[in-house]
Amino acid sequence: MRATIQRIKWGGLALVATLVAMQAHAQEQVSVVDHPDETGPYSHYMANRAPLAPSPVVKLPVGAVRPAGWLKKQLELQAAGFHGHLTEISEFLKKDGNAWLSKTGDGQRGWEEVPYWVKGFAGCAFLLENERMLREAQTWIEGALHSQQADGWFGPDKGRTGAATNLKGREDLWPNMIMLFCLQQYYERTTDPRVPELMQKYFRYLEKLPEEKFLVGYWPSMRGGDQLYSILWLYNLTGEPWLLDLAHKTHRKTARWDQGVIDWHNVNIAQAFREPAIYAMLARDPKYTAATEKDWTQVRDMYGQVPGGMFGADENARPGYTGPRQAIEACGVAEEMLSDEILIAATGNPIWAERCENAAFNTYPACMTADLKALRYLTAPNQPQSDHKSKSPGIQNGGPMYCMDPHDHRCCQHNSGHAWPYFAQHLWYAAPGNGLAAYLYGPCQVSAKVAEGVLARITEDTRYPFEEEIRFTVSLPHPAAFPLYLRIPAWCQHAQLTIKGKRVWTVLPAGKLARIDRTWKNGDKVVLKLPMDVTVKIWSGSGNTVSVNRGPLTYSLQIAEDYRRFGGTDAWPAFDIFPASPWNYGLVLKPTLEQTFKVTKQPWPRDNQPFNNKTAPIRIQAFAKRIPNWTLDPRGCVNEVVRGPIRSEEKEEKVTLIPMGAARLRVSAFPTIGEGSSANDWPTPPKPIYNVEASHCNESDTTDAVCDGKIPQNSSDNTIGRMTWWPHLGTKEWLSMEFPKERSLSACRLFWFDDESLGGKCRLPQSWRLFYRSGNAWLPVRNPGHFGTAKDVFNQVNFEPVKTAAVKIEVELQPNFSGGVLEWQVE
Ligand SMILES: [Zn+2]
Repeated sequence: MRATIQRIKWGGLALVATLVAMQAHAQEQVSVVDHPDETGPYSHYMANRAPLAPSPVVKLPVGAVRPAGWLKKQLELQAAGFHGHLTEISEFLKKDGNAWLSKTGDGQRGWEEVPYWVKGFAGCAFLLENERMLREAQTWIEGALHSQQADGWFGPDKGRTGAATNLKGREDLWPNMIMLFCLQQYYERTTDPRVPELMQKYFRYLEKLPEEKFLVGYWPSMRGGDQLYSILWLYNLTGEPWLLDLAHKTHRKTARWDQGVIDWHNVNIAQAFREPAIYAMLARDPKYTAATEKDWTQVRDMYGQVPGGMFGADENARPGYTGPRQAIEACGVAEEMLSDEILIAATGNPIWAERCENAAFNTYPACMTADLKALRYLTAPNQPQSDHKSKSPGIQNGGPMYCMDPHDHRCCQHNSGHAWPYFAQHLWYAAPGNGLAAYLYGPCQVSAKVAEGVLARITEDTRYPFEEEIRFTVSLPHPAAFPLYLRIPAWCQHAQLTIKGKRVWTVLPAGKLARIDRTWKNGDKVVLKLPMDVTVKIWSGSGNTVSVNRGPLTYSLQIAEDYRRFGGTDAWPAFDIFPASPWNYGLVLKPTLEQTFKVTKQPWPRDNQPFNNKTAPIRIQAFAKRIPNWTLDPRGCVNEVVRGPIRSEEKEEKVTLIPMGAARLRVSAFPTIGEGSSANDWPTPPKPIYNVEASHCNESDTTDAVCDGKIPQNSSDNTIGRMTWWPHLGTKEWLSMEFPKERSLSACRLFWFDDESLGGKCRLPQSWRLFYRSGNAWLPVRNPGHFGTAKDVFNQVNFEPVKTAAVKIEVELQPNFSGGVLEWQVE
């Protein structure tokens, strides 16, 4: 074996060293590269046309990769779960009067939900060849194809005012962007000529739109990168140069993600940060690719100092809310995965595969129950209780965000289903020189044209990420020479490559691609061995918490999960999940990793679903001590971690860790246990504040403010926290306060918020009443005094003493005005 060092230039970005090892006696060359050699031809798949940058790798048409094993099981569960049956559950998918099925675009439910759902539903149907789903998907695709108007518009019309955004006569281009993705996927399967015809006419229509009417409104502007992607897709198909002008126009009118993270909504970030790198293919300027990397990194630096590959934005990222209890939307995870998969194709950089697997294996599966029959809106790295009670202000969104409910969580309910179908489609890519590249790993079979056009079939036999070995078997009708690229994961320090039983490389460099050039013969076997060591990552940005990794999987404390039905239907029940075992542990780290952790393997689950708390096939035994002061807040949201190491007088115990993706209740960012002067005490939890809930609380206000003990200077005091019902105007609203235990009450005092003097639209309420809780009922207090609505003072009302654990006010707002409360005292 001889080794040489080559230097090659790529994308004007950097010089990279490439190690090449040759076997003198075989017609075989194995090299290690940073990315595929972009100069090779693509004779069989749709790569970038000039003047676009050459494609580092190219997505294969849907169906080229057929998932197997646990991955196919996820799709089967999805098909049998809420997403595969969403027409029976979701109002938005009712066919009667649906604008997406109307030839004129008239009707209802014409926004994002239908195309969101079709994207994952059709993808799942195409991969499973499920007859029922194929028929259903076709109905909606035909609906879109038949909806095109004479001027080129397609989809819901409704006077082109935008169905759910307030665009007032300017087209809401956002829902159509999603439907274009659906149509592209359908075209890959069928080559139905109606798809490029529709897209061409629609893009001609967009071409004529004046810029001031183009991509206006919040969502269209944030997510214009999706439209850019579809325009470049059609350009690669047809080669019509005017499409490139439309692509530039789309970039011009898209929010400037090339200038930094310009919005903090979790789905916008996960979806739109890729826009600059897509535009880089057109602009041929590496600064745009760098901008995408910078956006990703900035979000992780600020809000992603946690395991699981995502970041805390629930549903926007908020300064001061950066730790492991902050959550992410299920659809944010799905969009991150798709962005990473698209970025692999746009850049060839294997780092996007690392990031995709991290989100896919560690966060996405936990967004749903293990049977995929219910989902929750928000999932966090530390989330030891998951019930339907509002967790705000610990997380930003009020309302039932943590329960597993197939009937709720509107956007995620429809949109999260594209995660596994697209993941499966992107396991393999076409590579330059008519080769193939495996970037993401999982059990599957790829069938694709290689070399001069011969159909190669490669079976990928593995239980990765639950197994350390991946076995590839090549099927070919006759020998063919083509390059095969295999990603060497960045976490793997001693990957080994064996071809036909012969070890060709003992320690492959991590984070790169192995490139095998060879004349492949039928039956050739390649084995990639990826030994998985247990490692500990310290999150200094999150209180020195640690996470435990093995290979691409991160591990979470195994918490016994008590599922309790609270709603839904018998066919589609909704569940809260409560912890049925202790969760407030800190890890005890021994001097060596070997002394600290012991990996145990369980039998492979009989139902083929490894993302299950009870049957996860790999576990890690660890040592831990309880931290009694680490508790849930009154709403059941876990309290923030305290900077460790933490002192604990509790006894050391053995605990079990399971893959994060298998843990719906989870502690995966652990405090560590320490001793001596370097350790910190976990302070006793803040005295339980009352649990305050409201019919509505404005996003930038908090219900907690009404019992924070801060006395207002006047009714417009904006130096202290407040709760308001803004932007509700003239409505009936309520506000309730629950005490830790029953108490005796005979008076309460309200300090109303009124910002007339600040030019705001909150006023003293028109009237209000007071109730107390008795059993499950709210009863009016007896013999109350005057329910005052005076400005700048506490309005006290006295009543007959009651014993109760909760009180509630019902408020009637002044017509056309909102209202709010600064402080609420009870005695
Ligand atoms: Zn969502």
